[in-house]
Amino acid sequence: MTSPKNIAILGSTGSIGCSALDVVRAVEGFNVVGLSGHSQIDLLAAQADEFKPDWVVGTDPINAGSFPDCSQDCWDFHIGDESLTRLATAENIDIVLAAIVGIAGLPSAWSAIDAGKTVALANKETMVVAGQQLASRAAETNARILPVDSEHSAIFQAMQSGNANEVSRIILTASGGPFRDFSSEQMKTVTVDQALAHPTWNMGKKNSIDSATMMNKALEIVEARWLFDVPASQIEVVVHPQSIIHSIVEFTDGSSIAQLSPPDMKLPIQYAFTWPNRLPGPSPKLDLSSGMTLELLPPDLERFPALALGFEVAQLGGTAGAVMNAANESAVEAFLNNEISFDGIATACRQIVEQHNFDPTPTLDDLFAADKWARQEMSRWMFA
Ligand code: NAD
Ligand code: MG
Repeated sequence: MTSPKNIAILGSTGSIGCSALDVVRAVEGFNVVGLSGHSQIDLLAAQADEFKPDWVVGTDPINAGSFPDCSQDCWDFHIGDESLTRLATAENIDIVLAAIVGIAGLPSAWSAIDAGKTVALANKETMVVAGQQLASRAAETNARILPVDSEHSAIFQAMQSGNANEVSRIILTASGGPFRDFSSEQMKTVTVDQALAHPTWNMGKKNSIDSATMMNKALEIVEARWLFDVPASQIEVVVHPQSIIHSIVEFTDGSSIAQLSPPDMKLPIQYAFTWPNRLPGPSPKLDLSSGMTLELLPPDLERFPALALGFEVAQLGGTAGAVMNAANESAVEAFLNNEISFDGIATACRQIVEQHNFDPTPTLDDLFAADKWARQEMSRWMFA
């Protein structure tokens, strides 16, 4: 019998974090040694109580104040971002699940890669902002980045059918979100509640809005570009409303390999944990007993302008991903606060990407500066 793998779950109170804990509950061989959460401190405390990790980190010092004292069986409770970095690089950790949302997840993911860890990466924004830098640092430290995003997990699984230099195209599937059939006119009056109601996936708020604008797919194009070192010209998107085919890899001989499963994040999380093996787990299986219709449709880049921007940003590289991501994070927040319209999200992101002072070879500091600039520009755009 092999010894259990020690896992740290960064962002354990989120949608991905909770699914990861469901995987650990159901699959033998994993030991949760670290948890982190930013808000929902009651949930973080309940998770700590159940899993008895060595470390718990409350990343928001104000929220962390309400974490209950523990008298026995104690885990160490730490507060703040520095503690998160220490957790992400701790000696006894085998796998770091990076499941914090947004650029807030980049420093800890970077530290884990810098320390040569195996990182199960859910936080796509990290790859969008600094994919080029993360991939080359991982090559230097022998860190392994295992994709958790369902499309990228599917690509990773399909890639194992051939060699990297035999891949001719990566085809990312997109559900099309709740407004797949909306006209551009209808898109102007979309409300927050409508945008949060995703037809096939159950996700955190940011990811749900990103799916509705299809900015999620734009981010995933850039994520795929760096994760798999494939140029933007070899990446395509196809709309697949049923969310059963999670992506497709086409090889030079014309064979296309796809990965299929019901839409449930537990499977890609589990695969990143068990890779290169497969184990029985809690994810549902396909039920084909009454038949199933699967559609694949071309995307409409005019009704979903975020998608066109994603291709351009993947092609540009440099600071473009950091700027698009930051503009989008601010725009999503503004939309959730009813400060901008739904269709304003993609418009603002394009303008800010086009206006920015492009640097093709940024350092990590340059990327954080580009991120900050884009957020300030977004505030200016809103009040212009
Ligand atoms: P979520 O909002 O449900 O959870 C985010 C987690 O990050 C929470 O634990 C929260 O406490 C923590 N967090 C928030 N702000 C933080 C900060 N400033 N510092 C430290 N921690 C902070 O998000 P989610 O849906 O679980 O998504 C997590 C990541 O996974 C995102 O990058 C998302 O794009 C990606 N992802 C999610 C899904 C999905 O189905 N939910 C699918 C693919 C990829
Ligand atoms: Mg995805």
